[in-house]
Amino acid sequence: MKAKEIDRLKTVLSYNILDTPAEEDLDKIAELIAMVCEVPIAIISIIDDRRQWYKAKVGVDNDEVPVEDSFCQFTLIEDRFLEITAVQDDERVKGKPAAQGVDGLKFYAGVPLKAPDGHNIGTACVASSKPHKLTEKQKKAFELLADQAMTLIDAKRSNQILGDELKTILDRQKSILKKSIKQKESEFNALIQAISLSNALVQFNPDGTIFEANQIFASYLGFTSEELRGIHHDELLFEEDRKNNKAFWESLNQGNFKSGQMKRKHRSGKEIWLLATYNPILDSEGKVFKIIKIAQEITSSIESRKALQKAKDDAIQLNIQKDNFLANVSHELRTPLHAILGFTKLLLEEETDTIKTEYLNAVKTAGDNLLFTVNDILDLSKIESGTILIEQLEFDLHQLIHEVASFLKIKAVQKKISFTVEIDAEVPKWIIGDKNRLGQILINLIGNGIKFTDKGYVKLKLERVRENTSQVILKFRIQDTGIGIALEKLSMIFDRFSQSDEKISRRFGGTGLGLNISKSLVEKMDGTIEVSSKEGLGSEFSFTIPFQRGQQPIEKSKEAAVSFTQSKQVIKILLCEDNEINQALVKTLLRPANFDLVIASNGEEGIQRFQEMDFDLVLMDIQMPIMDGYQTTIYLREKLHTQVPIIALTANYMLKEKQKCLELGMNDYLSKPFKKEELFEKIYLWGDSVNKKQLITKTEEDQAAEASVDLNVLKEYSCGDEAFEHEMMQMFIGQVEKWKTAMDNHMAIADFKNIADSTHKMKSSFGVVGADTKDLINLEDLAELEDIAGIEAVYSRVIQYLKIVIPFLENKMKK
Ligand code: ADP
Repeated sequence: MKAKEIDRLKTVLSYNILDTPAEEDLDKIAELIAMVCEVPIAIISIIDDRRQWYKAKVGVDNDEVPVEDSFCQFTLIEDRFLEITAVQDDERVKGKPAAQGVDGLKFYAGVPLKAPDGHNIGTACVASSKPHKLTEKQKKAFELLADQAMTLIDAKRSNQILGDELKTILDRQKSILKKSIKQKESEFNALIQAISLSNALVQFNPDGTIFEANQIFASYLGFTSEELRGIHHDELLFEEDRKNNKAFWESLNQGNFKSGQMKRKHRSGKEIWLLATYNPILDSEGKVFKIIKIAQEITSSIESRKALQKAKDDAIQLNIQKDNFLANVSHELRTPLHAILGFTKLLLEEETDTIKTEYLNAVKTAGDNLLFTVNDILDLSKIESGTILIEQLEFDLHQLIHEVASFLKIKAVQKKISFTVEIDAEVPKWIIGDKNRLGQILINLIGNGIKFTDKGYVKLKLERVRENTSQVILKFRIQDTGIGIALEKLSMIFDRFSQSDEKISRRFGGTGLGLNISKSLVEKMDGTIEVSSKEGLGSEFSFTIPFQRGQQPIEKSKEAAVSFTQSKQVIKILLCEDNEINQALVKTLLRPANFDLVIASNGEEGIQRFQEMDFDLVLMDIQMPIMDGYQTTIYLREKLHTQVPIIALTANYMLKEKQKCLELGMNDYLSKPFKKEELFEKIYLWGDSVNKKQLITKTEEDQAAEASVDLNVLKEYSCGDEAFEHEMMQMFIGQVEKWKTAMDNHMAIADFKNIADSTHKMKSSFGVVGADTKDLINLEDLAELEDIAGIEAVYSRVIQYLKIVIPFLENKMKK
């Protein structure tokens, strides 16, 4: 075969892919050619090396013909339009099968179909069994239509090639995808396999029935894998958990993943805990077709956690019991101790015999020491349980130092060592803080100084470290020239029960609690404590605490006391107290003065006595049989509607208890053991009806001064308009009520921001009526410091203050 023919065949081959039946368009062209040429036969065909393939035809039945039998092979050879008008005479074709017989072809005309590369891939031809000849026009039209047919074939081939290319690309992609799906599938299976080796694995149908569970899962629940197959998830749950299970499965069916600790029922009925995940698996349409659960058993860790929680709860409960026990024991110890000390003091006042006085002093010292120890133990338990509260009240620091110094001076004198106090000029006189706790720290540190010093001196130095608008920071140094502390002991000197030397503890006594309590108290006041010492040379303990500056409060008690001593009035007092020693002590203490004392041994008896006669004052013990002090007060206030002053005699000097007394309607409190002077002061303040009457008849200015309300402020605002003043007062009273409710809520949840905000708003209302805003400013500062104990203390002071201010304003409005 010639090279040219080979090239042509290549082109033909590229068209031979057109093995689909001829398209309608090609058929129409064949029809058109037959019509134009006015012949019955027209064929559009492709010719390869062996056959002529009819792609469109009119007037013939067969679809192909061998090349050697075809007329068109000559059109191809001719390579242009070929017309044979007398087939029977033409040497090339007269012997061909189609030319034979009566109906054999007499006429033939063909046009080669030329591909864009110049090769003829086939022909368009017309034929007839009658002689015929094409006109010039027909020939032209025939050629044009043949051209059209070629264009169509070409377009179809291009489309097909494109389509094939696309198909190849798609096929390739499909096979890549298939491979990766296969890969993923085997990875997934390997994963499931790996998971199921060490985890419980269950596969559920979307309705919650198990279709496969591995041996691990089955063994968790006491079943075999076969036994689990087909059972519903519900059956693994306890009755009470089943009601929520429907919703659980609905959610899983929505494709939601679930995980957590789940309680399941073992075959034996016992609880099993699983840490499980439920994974919905989606089909290609996004529908859940199964749910795979992976789980691990955690029953033992849940049980141990429960046991741990129980142990913790028990420990907390035990701690509460311990606190109560300690509080009760300390009460039981302090009550008789209080009596011993009280009576000893009375005896000492009367005793003239020196030897007896010495013995009595020994009893007093021992009692004082015992009281310290009992108080230390109580403090310790309060520090541990976090119930210790630090008061924030105004007090005279210089006075406190004076009291502490005179108390300790006696001991220093007894030991023949010097004890001096130096206070810097910048140290303020009035500060806000917890006077008693500060005193306790000083007594402990100075007391230790004196205890551990045999010659030389003990010095208390007080200096101001720094001051800013809200705080003054004070440093207390306690220096001594005593035995000092060994270097290796210094680091643990503040630890509980630590004493630097056993010999020392035998020689000096003590419990080793004092420094630990002092440190806790200093830290509770936001301060720091430190020590430096040289063995044999002496020690310096120093602590630094920030305080707020205070102002001298109005001292009503002193005034009352003075006026009382001038009055000849007899005060009728009801003492509700169950302890006979305490009854006797109060009786003895009150004997020399102008009092009429009636004693009741419990609250019920107290109420009876109260109904039988008039009293000016009630002294109320808290812990009493039958009816305690709280219940009795509620009865007196709510059932008998009496306003007679009630003073609580509290055993536990806890702030909360004091607050509770005030809230229940008592007027004041006195912590046991109390001193004679303290008891008298309270009685003078609350019990003197003459004095009270004097108070009532005070001038408006006096009352205003007492209420510390500056009436001029409102007057300035109102320019003398009294109606306006009353309106403002009324508004103020309304706001106070709202503020109190809000504050109670905020304080209950320690919401410092709202405490500060609502107090800030209230401050301007206080300002308008001329009330004292100092404590509100304090409250704002304390809220910023997030000091809830301070807030509670100052807030209760504000409430006390309002108890004077509001009746004063109400009184003023009536006029
Ligand atoms: P207590 O004095 O009741 O034993 P403290 O906690 O107050 O308990 O003191 C603990 C120990 O610290 C004391 O026993 C003593 O060994 C040592 N210590 C405290 N203060 C001094 C001091 N000023 N000089 C020497 N040692 C001291």
